[in-house]
Amino acid sequence: MQKLENYINGELVAPISGEYVDNYNPAIGEVYSLIPDSDERDVAKAVESAKNAFPEWSAKTPEQRHDILIAISKLIERDLDELAEAESIDNGKPKTLAKAVDIPRAVSNFKFYATAAMHFASESHQMVGEAINYTLRQPIGVVGCISPWNLPLYLFTWKIAPALAAGNCVVAKPTEITPMTSYLLSKLCIEAGLPKGVLNIVHGLGQKAGAAIVQHDAVKAISFTGGTATGEWIAREAAPKFKKLSLELGGKNPNIIFADCDYETMLDTTIRSSFANQGQICLCGSRIFVERPMYENFCSDFAEKVKALKIGDPLEASTNVGAVVSNDHMNKILSYIELAKEEGGQILTGGNQVRPKGRCEKGYFVEPTIIENLSHNCRTNQEEIFGPVVSVQPFDTEEGVLTYANSTRYGLSATVWTSNLNKAHRVAEKLESGIVWINTWLLRDLRTPFGGVKDSGMGREGGFEALRFFTEEKNICVKVNY
Ligand code: NAD
Repeated sequence: MQKLENYINGELVAPISGEYVDNYNPAIGEVYSLIPDSDERDVAKAVESAKNAFPEWSAKTPEQRHDILIAISKLIERDLDELAEAESIDNGKPKTLAKAVDIPRAVSNFKFYATAAMHFASESHQMVGEAINYTLRQPIGVVGCISPWNLPLYLFTWKIAPALAAGNCVVAKPTEITPMTSYLLSKLCIEAGLPKGVLNIVHGLGQKAGAAIVQHDAVKAISFTGGTATGEWIAREAAPKFKKLSLELGGKNPNIIFADCDYETMLDTTIRSSFANQGQICLCGSRIFVERPMYENFCSDFAEKVKALKIGDPLEASTNVGAVVSNDHMNKILSYIELAKEEGGQILTGGNQVRPKGRCEKGYFVEPTIIENLSHNCRTNQEEIFGPVVSVQPFDTEEGVLTYANSTRYGLSATVWTSNLNKAHRVAEKLESGIVWINTWLLRDLRTPFGGVKDSGMGREGGFEALRFFTEEKNICVKVNY
């Protein structure tokens, strides 16, 4: 059985404990590799090596760092097929999706921040007749990056690339549920000639290896993407140590559909925004509100198209819906479907576990599920399910749908469908969320601020925001004698 290794001080090494945890292939329900069960000793080594690498890495020019980050991006691009297959096996997502979205985005993350750092600048403030202030933005030192399982390499590199580009050294922990592509990335970093200790990847459990990164005094900033409960814990631990924090957390995103929208585009996009990656994207719209005149038509067309999605082997090119990430997660999703029924929900389509014939019969598959007849404030509509489950509900007025949309503790993203631009702007302005898409979904420009409000997190990733997060400002005031 393949044993993954930590990447510390430029080398692939076994965990100090010698212990490993199982890594499952969710499409077949079997363990297929072993992950280092790292603890605070491995993290301490990684932090030490990052500290040692920092003086030289932070002294490099942005161009020098650019060259190495671009070399890494090219190697990811070279291995696109291998990485997409690894991501699919590890996560259960269709390989076609990993090849079209996850891995190309990892390439873009490195490319984007390799160049962004060369264009990054800081402010100066003149005090007329008196002085000039200028602000330096200096790398922080050792920073921690912790990422989730739904878009493994995509989100891991979304943190690492800006941290490195800004001149920091990184101790990173991918999720223990889908660690494979970050392990493959460590090999590519060695091949690209990334100096030892600049990036360290420690594998292991969140409450052990992850917590050790958060609690280490020398880790001055934490960039975290994951669940809201974990984010709360990290915030509590990090606050007394005054660490910088960027938290990208859960969501329960509304998809608001007005009757005057472009119907066919809306319908096709809503299939994606509901069920892409088995609904396991933090930006998926899991609460669909449809203006009443269109409601019945929408429900029947939507259900018909969803029934036609092909569920099964993620490695087959014709598969639309792969496996959900784990047995535990499948059971959580199925328990929410039961809860929805108890809350009076009626299933329009789906609702069951699927056992595909052949090699995937023991995998973790759930039918894409549409539920109606639920109130906006029931638990099914308030809590994050993070699976292929959406609810549909009619609405009559703009004010009414805004009340529904804004009723959860979350505020990550929202989608609005209408051909009336005045209405689109009005509604977008009043939505309590960090990101609003109008007549589209998940259209991403990496320069834009990305993140949520309320319990969906704090801080923004993307563009120069991430470079600001990964640098410390220092204002220098120079008195000028005129
Ligand atoms: P999770 O919080 O369980 O784990 C995320 C990461 O944190 C993993 O690497 C895990 O090992 C680590 N971790 C767990 N406990 C820790 C601790 N005590 N200290 C330090 N690290 C710890 O989340 P998950 O189940 O992997 O991911 C799903 C969640 O992520 C969903 O809530 C989803 O909405 C959210 N998410 C948010 C965004 C966003 O951009 N806002 C993007 C993707 C996923």
